[in-house]
Amino acid sequence: MTEIRAQDGTVSAAFQSALEVIRRSDPRIADAISSELTDQRESLKLIASENYASPAVLLAMGNWLSDKYAEGTAGRRFYAGCRNVDTVEALAAEYARDLFGARHAYVQPHSGIDANLVAYWAVLAQKVESPALAKAGVRGVNDLGDADWARLRADLGDQRMLGMSLDAGGHLTHGFRPNISGKMFDQRSYGTDPATGLLDYAAVREAAREFRPLILVAGYSAYPRLVNFRIMREIADEVGATLMVDMAHFAGLVAGRVLTGDFDPVPHAQIVTTTTHKSLRGPRGGMVLCDDEFADSVDRGCPLVLGGPLPHVMAAKAIALGEARRPEFRDYAARVVDNSRALAEGLLRRSATLVTGGTDNHLVIIDVSRYGLTGRQAESALLDAGIVTNRNAIPRDPNGAWYTSGVRIGTPALTTRGFGTAEMDEIAELIDQVLHGTEPAPGKDGRPSQALYRLKDGLAEHISGRAAEMLAKNPLYPEIDLP
Ligand SMILES: *Cc1c(COP(=O)(O)O)cnc(C)c1O
Repeated sequence: MTEIRAQDGTVSAAFQSALEVIRRSDPRIADAISSELTDQRESLKLIASENYASPAVLLAMGNWLSDKYAEGTAGRRFYAGCRNVDTVEALAAEYARDLFGARHAYVQPHSGIDANLVAYWAVLAQKVESPALAKAGVRGVNDLGDADWARLRADLGDQRMLGMSLDAGGHLTHGFRPNISGKMFDQRSYGTDPATGLLDYAAVREAAREFRPLILVAGYSAYPRLVNFRIMREIADEVGATLMVDMAHFAGLVAGRVLTGDFDPVPHAQIVTTTTHKSLRGPRGGMVLCDDEFADSVDRGCPLVLGGPLPHVMAAKAIALGEARRPEFRDYAARVVDNSRALAEGLLRRSATLVTGGTDNHLVIIDVSRYGLTGRQAESALLDAGIVTNRNAIPRDPNGAWYTSGVRIGTPALTTRGFGTAEMDEIAELIDQVLHGTEPAPGKDGRPSQALYRLKDGLAEHISGRAAEMLAKNPLYPEIDLP
């Protein structure tokens, strides 16, 4: 963000004027927007899925591009007057292809979940619907007779997916019942080796051979190690599955060339989905990259499962992808991982227990049962001390998915603020002190509670004071000055 910092006055003025205009319409909304900046500035944000987008990314979203309907894709719209949206979407897609070395990029998904739905339906269209249409000798679904249509609908709903289990770090959208993917697909999951905590490729292969899924999903939101996508593709090929990698969490590390070779999903997977707001540091949104084989089907995402594209967000995606193509972003991605390692080492040195014993990426999972706490208690105590994290299940979690036994922390956001490895060690110290200084408190009935806790007197104030000093040294959006 160095380049933007040079234009101090301009950036400040832009946000000040925007807020003034909003204030005239609804002061309470203007206040909430200003107040969010203060909250973000004053919290030590270790939420692994969050970041801070640049002022240019933020400003690209607040304008009249939002007023345009643009169903279809660049140059092939169902609405007239889309020339500027075409420019925006074509540039965002070009930057995405270039940045990730992808054959095709679809930048319309509104979020990561939407990107996954687009991808799943693209695979179903290619591998189930198209053959059925060919067999019936018709061009489109409207040409099928009632019996053929009924059979196709049944077939679309009778496909299999193999994905990473939730407690090993997989995502709800990888075929779990509370999400639509679990209602669409018959899902089975693979996990990690109980001894090492690492992804067990032999077990994935065995499950794939036995289950023969249509789609093998790789990717995670809470696994602190690397995944070898070359091996995952070999497994998928062996059983005729399509490999889809959901890189929502680690797209920034791929863009920043920290994850290369076997660990870069793009050359190995037929389809790669992502969010744009996590480590990639763009606007809240999603994206699909794919091989030529799936390009046409992926492009039908809207209106198949997506509402009209958000042209203002596509503009912000283009800005963010452009930023990620610069050399500074490689430096950023490398620092994210250096910081994550330093944080893990700092915690281990203070005798914390970490899932898999450490990290190779941007996130760390602390097993807080070592401190006699549930994830819920640890998360709340840390928040009292000004440290924002989120609780997370650990493999074979005895406390289930609600209370959990883990806390997930990640470094993309603080690295954007300028935090370095020495500060990560200090944060490890603060986390360790909070967790040591917290004990479970009994519930109303006197029995141990999974949610209630007690922090040592004065500890929260002491820790948040030290956190505030670190935050002051690494100001957020120093180029933005609100009155
Ligand atoms: C965050 C995440 C998603 C969902 O992204 P949204 O933008 O919240 O819809 C999907 N998959 C993975 C692996 C994620 O980490």
